[in-house]
Amino acid sequence: MRVLLIDDDPFALRLLARQLDVLGVDDVQACDNAQSAAELVARDAAPFDLLFIDLNMPGMDGVELLRHVARAHFRGSLVLVSGADERILQSVERLARAHHLRVLGTLHKPVAPQALARLVDAVPTEPRHTALRPVARAYGPEELSAAITLGELVNYYQPQVDLRTARVTGVETLVRWHHPVDGLVPPDQFIPLAETHGLSDELARWVIAAALHDARRWQDAGLPLRLSVNVSMDNLVRLDYPDEIARAADVAGVHAAQLVLEITESQLMRDRLALLDIAARLRLKGIGLAIDDFGTGYSSLAQLRDVPFDELKLERGFVHGACGSPPLRTILEASLALARQLGLRAVAEGVEDRADWDCLRALGCDCAQGYFIGRPMPAAKLPAWLRAWQARALEFAEVAA
Ligand code: C2E
Ligand code: CA
Repeated sequence: MRVLLIDDDPFALRLLARQLDVLGVDDVQACDNAQSAAELVARDAAPFDLLFIDLNMPGMDGVELLRHVARAHFRGSLVLVSGADERILQSVERLARAHHLRVLGTLHKPVAPQALARLVDAVPTEPRHTALRPVARAYGPEELSAAITLGELVNYYQPQVDLRTARVTGVETLVRWHHPVDGLVPPDQFIPLAETHGLSDELARWVIAAALHDARRWQDAGLPLRLSVNVSMDNLVRLDYPDEIARAADVAGVHAAQLVLEITESQLMRDRLALLDIAARLRLKGIGLAIDDFGTGYSSLAQLRDVPFDELKLERGFVHGACGSPPLRTILEASLALARQLGLRAVAEGVEDRADWDCLRALGCDCAQGYFIGRPMPAAKLPAWLRAWQARALEFAEVAA
């Protein structure tokens, strides 16, 4: 493993090099300024596997260096080191990820040997796969419209589980496009297109009809799952929308109370009056309303005040790793307290490991959703996943008791 340490403090460099040596990492180069480090990384003659970047440096600082490292398409891993405030470190970590850099973690000075050992263990041995830098192709509206008509869209479903009993409560519908050439295209690559080209309604109608159809099949098989569907606010402009949804549920033979609409903000929201009218009438018909990605964008307190939501979805950026991070934990606790006091069911997204699960459970969150429980899957895979989960949920017997 080739390592480059960047810090203006010669003592810190020597100390870190010695700590790495103890861990058996001896191909270590040290650099006392960011400028030279940027040049070394850009030259890339013998690529480094791991960089330790101090954030506070005179001249070029660690944040500027990240920019250069990203521009050089660095493919190794990074560790951010600082004596600075935890929130600055986290914010820079986020920035690095947004640059598509692979961040192993952050270290506080003075560096604790165990924390360092954990990070060194986490250095991937295989060369970095390119999936971290998704190549998004731009699609045209005609292509998407044809895809809807030709039946190229497909709904995936991600399970939601009660954190106390480990029982499956429902699924969230997440649409994908089975593109004949590009394979499975994620929704982020075509939902915005639908919204800006007036295809939103057509798409939403397809998604909900297909989801209701699947829900009916699960119901017939003895699995009455709650069905969540994502709806953007610009779908909520026609005053007869609640009637249309109730009718669709009725035709499919699914009880309206089983349906939850997860409302995501759209920049195109124009008619607030219509939104409030529609939201109230959806609830009167027994249909659930969730505020999606709570705390991000416009998914805010004003929406909570005005719209009669009965569920609050915590965005994964506030969930995964929250218990190891005091600022995230504070935000999570405050959001859960808000949900509790307003009588909303709290559903956490992005539960990726057992630590997330235990943390949410301890904080009294109601439901969890995330890779730790199950990835989004086609309808046909759900029964097998359910059987596997029932076996796995026994692991949580003590927590589920
Ligand atoms: P969202 O509603 O916030 O959905 C959660 C996203 O997080 C999904 O991405 C899901 O696959 C992903 N996810 C789930 N568990 C984990 C986890 O443990 N870790 C991580 N890192 N990610 C996790 P996906 O399916 O790509 O959907 C992206 C967004 O597209 C959704 O975000 C939703 O806003 C939108 N979307 C999906 N389907 C529809 C739809 O039918 N209509 C509309 N309007 N929007 C949709
Ligand atoms: Ca959602």
